[in-house]
Amino acid sequence: MTPMMAQYLKIKSDHPGAILFYRMGDFYEMFFDDAVAAAAALDIALTKRGKHEGADIPMCGVPVHAAEGYLLTLTRKGFRVAICEQLENPAEAKKRGYKAVVKRGVTRVVTPGTLTEDSLLDARRHNYLAAWAEIRGTGALAWVDISTGEMTVAPCKRVMLPHLLSRLSPPEILCPDALEPELRGMAEETGAALVPLGAASFDSESGQARLKALYAVASLDAFGQFDRVETAALGALVNYLEITQKGKLPLIRPPVREAPGGAMAIDAATRRNLEITQSLSGGRNGSLLATVDRTVTAGGARLLERRLSAPSQDLAEIRDRHDAVEALLDNPRLRDDLRDALKRAPDMDRALSRLSLDRGGPRDLTALRDGLAQAGTIAAMLPDDLPERLVRAAQDLLGHEALTDLLDEALVADPPLLARDGGFVATGYDTALDEARTLRDKGRGLIAGLQAQYTKLTGIGSLKVKHNNVLGYFVETPATHSTRMTSEPLTETFIHRQTTANAIRFTTVELSELERGLLNAGSHALELEKQIFARLCRACLDTAASIGHAARALAEIDLTTGFADLAAGSDWTRPRMEDSRAFDVRAGRHPVVEAALARQSGASFVANDCALSAEDDGAAICLLTGPNMAGKSTWLRQNALIALLAQSGAFVPAREARIGTVSQLFSRVGAADDLARGRSTFMVEMVETAAILNQADTRALVILDEIGRGTATYDGLSIAWATLEHLHNVNRCRALFATHYHEMTTLAEKLDHASNATVAVKDWEGEVIFLHEVRPGAADRSYGVQVAKLAGLPAPVIARARQVLETLEAGDREGGKRAPMLDDLPLFAAPPPPAPVVEKTHPAVDRLAEVQPDQLTPIQALSLLYELRGMV
Ligand code: ADP
Repeated sequence: MTPMMAQYLKIKSDHPGAILFYRMGDFYEMFFDDAVAAAAALDIALTKRGKHEGADIPMCGVPVHAAEGYLLTLTRKGFRVAICEQLENPAEAKKRGYKAVVKRGVTRVVTPGTLTEDSLLDARRHNYLAAWAEIRGTGALAWVDISTGEMTVAPCKRVMLPHLLSRLSPPEILCPDALEPELRGMAEETGAALVPLGAASFDSESGQARLKALYAVASLDAFGQFDRVETAALGALVNYLEITQKGKLPLIRPPVREAPGGAMAIDAATRRNLEITQSLSGGRNGSLLATVDRTVTAGGARLLERRLSAPSQDLAEIRDRHDAVEALLDNPRLRDDLRDALKRAPDMDRALSRLSLDRGGPRDLTALRDGLAQAGTIAAMLPDDLPERLVRAAQDLLGHEALTDLLDEALVADPPLLARDGGFVATGYDTALDEARTLRDKGRGLIAGLQAQYTKLTGIGSLKVKHNNVLGYFVETPATHSTRMTSEPLTETFIHRQTTANAIRFTTVELSELERGLLNAGSHALELEKQIFARLCRACLDTAASIGHAARALAEIDLTTGFADLAAGSDWTRPRMEDSRAFDVRAGRHPVVEAALARQSGASFVANDCALSAEDDGAAICLLTGPNMAGKSTWLRQNALIALLAQSGAFVPAREARIGTVSQLFSRVGAADDLARGRSTFMVEMVETAAILNQADTRALVILDEIGRGTATYDGLSIAWATLEHLHNVNRCRALFATHYHEMTTLAEKLDHASNATVAVKDWEGEVIFLHEVRPGAADRSYGVQVAKLAGLPAPVIARARQVLETLEAGDREGGKRAPMLDDLPLFAAPPPPAPVVEKTHPAVDRLAEVQPDQLTPIQALSLLYELRGMV
């Protein structure tokens, strides 16, 4: 085995779960299984290099300068990558002996949940690393975004974990290795990489010690009360960061405990269904988030995503948010000015995080400089008589003059990306640096001067002094002058270095000396710049906490301004929030459908009311019937979204709204195809419906769209029927229920707290016209045939369908003898074959035909059953 391979295997054995990027000069090389996996994931060539234990060693590599792109692909695909760098110059290794291997070590493990590079992150979204801990049946999830430093923990039951994960969508989840098999399926559903860790990582005692060390405090009490399982989850996060960041911990703000009941509970199916942050097709486009996003900063966009993903239940907090939006809505001038100023505020959170991890560059410093300066400008724009929330934000923006002055003085306006190349410190900031630079520049001038001198000396007008990386500075003449240049007396001055096809190159003693001086001055200047960079970083990190406050205040102002702008532009209104079970929306609209209509056809959206206020301790249920395509789903969802927007702090798309805070939001759609997850659609529908019936409390808002349609008609009807009764009698919540089972409208008449509504359509010369108006009452029929016609079903099929429908309806009118009627249908031929004569039906069938099920009491139904049984 070569010494290099021995070193490789040793380092690799310390990082079994990661792909090892082994630095060799200008490349990161991968070997063995790593190479096979990476070559496939990155679509790069797999080659081989040498042999190990008699077999070829598979190998692939990526150039260092392009590594970020490859890292992005690998982390997106759930891989972890250990970056192994050369820790010394190859020349130093050579000094130790001919065969010595360059010292190498892993400097960082890049994992999906611990990214900080702008190029690897979506600026407008959070990137969370989560950890799940469990101690004797109680669980907690902790999560951190190391690119912004926010860390949160929430107690959570295992059954609720998928919902919390769907809210946060962390790309990476840590768990105790014993739990891995149980959690694997759940992680796969959310698309996260599950990382099992030894029990020691989740030990609550060590967790506490890690947290105390991280914040350099003797007790965690100052941050709040964390129980054992919460401490264990937080501790695991810190431990993992220590491992992956190789001891360089990012700036992490003190953990915040999210109390249960703080946020509106929204489960995974509801999130998907309402397309809150992602549309059903998976992208951001077409989601509620994309439609209502008017923020102009990355921090504001991330805050918006957080708020929409976890609307508040706290009435005071919600009203506070609305107060702030209202104040800015009333002041369009201020709003516009704020937005202009906010646009110039860079992402300070992420700049700060990179600086803390030693991954920052000069542009991160200027991001802080410009961000803090902008913060000052914005604070000055906010008058004192604004609502409390904005005044507080304004205060958080102030007090950074010392740092901005320092950065202003020290840095040039537009610095280069990397500190390594220098050139970012402003002239006049540091005398020693200025001197070194002068010397360097003077050297360049002197070298340029030599050209004139040598031209004169040789009499060759085309002589040039040039520079390249191999020779350094050199004198070049065309090859035609070669004889003259290589004979006395010129050989006294010019030392031959190289002959190319067209030119001949020399150096001189004078040129070499000047070059050495210039290099010394240059590297001295670079060294000084590096020191200044380190000093400036430290100055920033010393005030990290208050920079963090300023960044959050900017995000809050951006979000509030964005909501105000949205309300102004789209004619939205402030919802009246109450501690009650009211839900009374006048002229509400669906923001996403409305925007899509405006974009696609310019058609206007028909606004609809929803009076769903629950009284006393009863339910409030509205049963909506109407043809397909009439607008049932739209109406259902718009009301859910109105509640969600209101509690997120936004105004709502309605003329008026009065809303009692919603504790849980549920939304289900019958039988969406879910083949990808290998479950029967009907099973999924039932599992999801069961979750609602088991969980919804009296403050919940439930939306059920065509529940039961995934099975045979009577099964489906019965399930829908029983579900509605349960919601009414047991859950006693507010619910909107859309169905195409007309039979259910009789149920709504029987229940005290349920009402019927329908979406109006007009039948005009056999065509159906959708009015999209929701009105009290039940639909008269389903217009399915007309809708099918609209969809472009061939005319003969439509004609035939009408014929079938008429026969069926006639049968219905004649007293419900549906089974024989179906047999009566002219099925295959035209003219229709003679109807088969029904000779004699069984007396039980006749008896059944007389029955009006809706008019039977349970007891009567039971005795009827006995009677029928007696007849067979
Ligand atoms: P359903 O659930 O009854 O089948 P949808 O709610 O899916 O119907 O609505 C079908 C289409 O009708 C929507 O895509 C939308 O374009 C349009 N639509 C629905 N509601 C409205 C409305 N209130 N105003 C205008 N167009 C609407």
